[in-house]
Amino acid sequence: MSDEHPVSTGPLPPGSTIGIVGGGQLGRMSALAARPLGYRVVALDPDEACPAAGVVDRLITAPYDEARALDALAEAADVVTFEFENVPAPGLERLRAQVPVHPSPEVLATCRDRELEKTFLAKHGFPVAAHRFASWASELEDAARALGTPSIAKATTLGYDGKGQARLEDPEDAGRVFQAIGSGRVVLERLVPFDAELSISVARGIGGERRTFAPVRNEHRHHVLDVTTAPSGLPAAVERRAIEIADGIADALDLVGVLAVELFLVGGDLIVNELAPRPHNSYHHSIEACVTSQFEQHVRAVAGLPLGDTTLRQPAAMVNLLGDLWAGGEPPWTSVLGAERAHLHLYGKREARPGRKMAHLTVLDDTVDEARRRALALRSALFHGAAAR
Ligand code: AMP
Repeated sequence: MSDEHPVSTGPLPPGSTIGIVGGGQLGRMSALAARPLGYRVVALDPDEACPAAGVVDRLITAPYDEARALDALAEAADVVTFEFENVPAPGLERLRAQVPVHPSPEVLATCRDRELEKTFLAKHGFPVAAHRFASWASELEDAARALGTPSIAKATTLGYDGKGQARLEDPEDAGRVFQAIGSGRVVLERLVPFDAELSISVARGIGGERRTFAPVRNEHRHHVLDVTTAPSGLPAAVERRAIEIADGIADALDLVGVLAVELFLVGGDLIVNELAPRPHNSYHHSIEACVTSQFEQHVRAVAGLPLGDTTLRQPAAMVNLLGDLWAGGEPPWTSVLGAERAHLHLYGKREARPGRKMAHLTVLDDTVDEARRRALALRSALFHGAAAR
């Protein structure tokens, strides 16, 4: 790595400016967490009505690869971080030449390409599902024969929330699946018969210090996160192993910031599914349930502050609220707003498309089962309330 670019040398004083590439809900919640620490926030997003728009000091409205906009962000910020990982490499280098950038362009490059990510994990000895890469349909078919079916094909780049993914029941599905994914490079993974899905968030500071949050348990619907519960309720040995894996990955990446590691539990063993070098949907509960939220932790890490206490104060359940709930207009929030230990987060998105993450609801309770039960009940009451109008 070149030493010619600016590097972080110590804590940013209050009044400094955090630059965030991306103004979606993660950028919005990061900006809200930066404020109590005394920081100003400038975000870059192509949409002037993005979720972060109303909560940042300044929004630069431009495409992520526009040189002038990247220069304006670098000029305004004392450190730059991301909620959007797909800034092209020349743009990242342009930023890095002017301002400290965390996590580094190398970390972003590794984590946004499933091929680089899987290869990195395997090379460092972290457990991953059996997989093969393919560039065309016949190669995918050969891969499916070698790996066995059922298996899942995923675009190596630009896929998220189950987009760019398709299941192969038989190697002969390869042609159809390859076309459906519509991407040049595909990774084929053996379907993991998991007993549970979990994730763990780890933060690593500019001096290499680390702190993990308690692992959480995730339930997906149609490949999109639906419910997260904390604590995970999994055996202590599994949680210790998850922490060991997350710490190891953060060190191997030389990460600065927070990183979410998504894991499958299968027969007592953990397999790494995916990495996200940023705040993650599965730790939204940390805003109310942990002493330090994942957003504050990310800001602390990139600003060179000491990392915060990650203690889980109370059992919690988080449910996502997708655009489908808005089919009849704004949902009737009264029941949720009146519920005990319930916290509604609306992201301020103007358009509610089906499947789009619009909001989330976190419920705290004395037990995780009760928190989950109440969160689901409140969400289904919202659906019924919406339908009844
Ligand atoms: P991903 O986009 O890789 O995070 O996948 C989204 C979801 O699809 C995961 O959270 C799992 O529920 C499911 N999934 C992805 N890959 C596999 C796999 N190899 N085996 C079983 N389920 C998978």
